[in-house]
Amino acid sequence: MANCPSCWKNDKSFFAIRCPDCNTVVSFVEQLLHSTMRLIAGIISTVVFIAFMLWAVPTFVDWAETLEPANPPQAEINFDEPLDFSN
Ligand SMILES: [Zn+2]
Repeated sequence: MANCPSCWKNDKSFFAIRCPDCNTVVSFVEQLLHSTMRLIAGIISTVVFIAFMLWAVPTFVDWAETLEPANPPQAEINFDEPLDFSN
């Protein structure tokens, strides 16, 4: 199913002359250009979204690492040495 250039519903067959929803006459060249532009716009928006996420996720991680921890780490226990109860 192709997208209608007039009503933007996806019920229209690609080679159909009229859209079944809005009854608009859509020529083959118009349908071809509309579908091609939608495809290109979809590819560009997908690439832009992936590039944005590749920038945003490391930027957010770098920013989050600058925050103070909610529970600061306590003194570490060294399990290799026996516990000293002398004091
Ligand atoms: Zn339509």
